[in-house]
Amino acid sequence: MSQPSRVRVALVLPELLGTYGDRGNATVLVQRLRWRSIDAEMIEVSGDTPVPADCDIYVIGGGEDIAQLAAVRWLQAHPGLQQAVGRGAVVLAVCAGFQILGTSFAGTDGAMHSGLGLFDAITRPLSRRAIGEIVVEPAPGLGIRSLTGFENHGGATQLGPGAAPLGRVVTGIGNGFDGAEGVVQGRIVGTYLHGPVLARNPDLADLLLTWATGRTLDPLSLEETETLRQERLQHARAR
Ligand code: GLN
Repeated sequence: MSQPSRVRVALVLPELLGTYGDRGNATVLVQRLRWRSIDAEMIEVSGDTPVPADCDIYVIGGGEDIAQLAAVRWLQAHPGLQQAVGRGAVVLAVCAGFQILGTSFAGTDGAMHSGLGLFDAITRPLSRRAIGEIVVEPAPGLGIRSLTGFENHGGATQLGPGAAPLGRVVTGIGNGFDGAEGVVQGRIVGTYLHGPVLARNPDLADLLLTWATGRTLDPLSLEETETLRQERLQHARAR
């Protein structure tokens, strides 16, 4: 894709999938661009408007099982996100958002539901709910430092051959299969880390921004962000 003059960050269905402050991920992306004097705007995509297909980055968050079902039905009926992915848009999908972008996922009743099929991933129930701090060693090819977050989910996600893990679990549960956490498929990232994940992990934010803008971004030196990251890593490793 060519470099966008104004980077458009879509916050998808925040009223359904935004339980954990996931809106913060869109705020972080926009702000990190503005700090570098790159024009950026957040587009809020609510359930009363079709999903635009022309944004550069899409952020979708976590939520309850019922909300997740309503969200996937809406997104299947209004396929702007799928069209955007088809032309190379970047996506960050957290928790319930991660599950519904997969091939299929289990509902509260145990029945399987079709996802959007953007990830080669199937989610079934975990034997025991995963709640707590999580630390992840990212896949080396991504070139980013350890990830820290908080997870709260009852789903276990198995990746198929078309998908690669975002990283390996150091502490916590993650996908619940083979020590994997999250998924990277093309320019789409899924993860069980919320909190919101990009406020804690500036490297991941900048990786998404680099993909979306096609630019090498100037480093940002933000002491508070770094202090938060270090504090959460130490806390999780001490447990
Ligand atoms: N409902 C899903 C689960 O429990 C997603 C939860 C979430 O988004 N935190 O697995």
